[in-house]
Amino acid sequence: MSRLFLILGDQLHPDPHPLLVDFDPARDRLLMIEAPVESTHAWSHKARIALFLAGMRHRAAAFRAAGQPLDYLQLGMHPHADLASALAAAIRATPTRAVVMLEAGDHRVQESLQQTCDAAGCPLLIRPDPHFLCSLDDFMAWAGEKPNLRLEFFYRWQRKRHHILMQDGQPLGGQWNFDADNRQAFGRQGPGMVPEALRFAPDAITQNVLADVEQHFPRHPGRLDRFGWPVTPAQAKAALDDFVRHRLPAFGQWQDAMWEDEAFLWHSLLSTALNLKLIHPRTVIDAVLAAHAAGRVPLPAAEGFIRQILGWREFVRGIYWRQMPHLARANQYGHDTPLPAWFWTGNTQARCLSATTRQTLEYGYAHHIQRLMVTGNFALIAGLNPAQVADWYLAVYVDAVDWVEAPNTLGMALHAWPGMTSKPYCASGAYIKRMSNYCQGCRYQPQQRTGPDACPFTTFYWDFLSRHAERFRQNPRMAMPLKNLDRLSPAEREAIRSQAAQLRRQLDTL
Ligand code: FAD
Ligand code: SF4
Repeated sequence: MSRLFLILGDQLHPDPHPLLVDFDPARDRLLMIEAPVESTHAWSHKARIALFLAGMRHRAAAFRAAGQPLDYLQLGMHPHADLASALAAAIRATPTRAVVMLEAGDHRVQESLQQTCDAAGCPLLIRPDPHFLCSLDDFMAWAGEKPNLRLEFFYRWQRKRHHILMQDGQPLGGQWNFDADNRQAFGRQGPGMVPEALRFAPDAITQNVLADVEQHFPRHPGRLDRFGWPVTPAQAKAALDDFVRHRLPAFGQWQDAMWEDEAFLWHSLLSTALNLKLIHPRTVIDAVLAAHAAGRVPLPAAEGFIRQILGWREFVRGIYWRQMPHLARANQYGHDTPLPAWFWTGNTQARCLSATTRQTLEYGYAHHIQRLMVTGNFALIAGLNPAQVADWYLAVYVDAVDWVEAPNTLGMALHAWPGMTSKPYCASGAYIKRMSNYCQGCRYQPQQRTGPDACPFTTFYWDFLSRHAERFRQNPRMAMPLKNLDRLSPAEREAIRSQAAQLRRQLDTL
């Protein structure tokens, strides 16, 4: 009886692949599956589908070149809709002593594979994924029974135990973060010359994938002609080097700024390579540390970037596995407004929303502040249904895997699960005006709360505060917004409430 080693589409680690430490090519079998349901359970952007398939096919080519005995079930060439039925068939086909896999990145997938193995009477051996800088055991021990988890404490703990940007037990530069230097807006002059990010022209394997995606998923959102994501470890390393050299020095300063028709700015575009495990986060951090040590990158930029990788990315993964499956149903505000149709087309007069959603459909990419403070903020204050919003984020971003998308959407952006941030990330049009040029060409006025030209963000912001004011009074971090709310007359508050209710009824025409 052989063992069946299963490698999922986001487990494309470079050689030596960590699942295969005790793989015996003479007896064991290696299985990879292109399952159509993984592209349809969330109605995925074509580029997201293409990215996973291209990564998988390149990984399969590397396994074959190394002489590994691989069963690769390619889209359209096997009868199975989902991973579970393909795995069940593989277990039936050959006597199987055990199925061996790394931890999945999706609770739904892990559950279905477990059920499949249980039903087949075949043990499923799940091994920790060494890709991460905080194992799930370590995270659970750190989190303990705390009802509320805070990034800042987790991040400091990670810095200390990994000895990153530390000196004599203290943070390098004497402070844990440099937000005062980072996170600036461009001002009227705009970003100027932005270094162009390295993109990768599709090779023959990727071109076949692009054709397959058009053939099998023609009605899915997004387009493929802009596809240029790294799909091999070598490309991931080239993308890292390009970022560290050309964009990292200004990353921190501009990490929150937005500008129309500038999709990438100084961001790294490394989330896809990281999430597919084409590159290890420690490799990324070491490259940043080396550039800082060589004097090529200021400390605020290095720290601002490392916090995202060593802090946020590991933090949200721990939260996902600690809070699932309840996280998926979280909705502390009881929001239930359906997602407006323009999320899928970009056809809205609200310029910030149209720019962000159009760019998302073009590339499958928007940077963090676009996701958090434009679409996410809007969904929160307009009261959109959290599960529908989470499905949209999972569908449209090339880097979306459930473990990273769900906590970011349901915890951080929508505050539907309240244990992850100390207050909701809600803001009026004034924030978007300060951080971007979107408002300049918009038909709405960011400072107006009511009236025909009122900015929908501003109307919904005050309405959101007003609707949940009693809950927020318990939270000292909401004291200032509530003080401003209390300055509004009852008549103004009623006008806002009525305009917000009207707007909510006709969101599709925004
Ligand atoms: P950079 O701005 O260059 O950041 C560097 C790296 O830090 C990223 O590549 C990423 O690996 C990591 N990172 C930064 N912020 C976060 C974060 N909050 N959580 C986890 N990792 C982070 N990221 C995903 O990888 N997949 C998702 O599905 C996803 N969904 C999101 C949904 C919402 C509502 C929000 C607010 C954020 C989401 N993020 C997600 C986090 C973040 O927006 C993306 O990681 C980032 O925009 C990717 O672009 P980049 O590689 O250029 O990142
Ligand atoms: Fe967005 Fe309001 Fe500015 Fe228009 S005015 S771009 S809707 S924030």
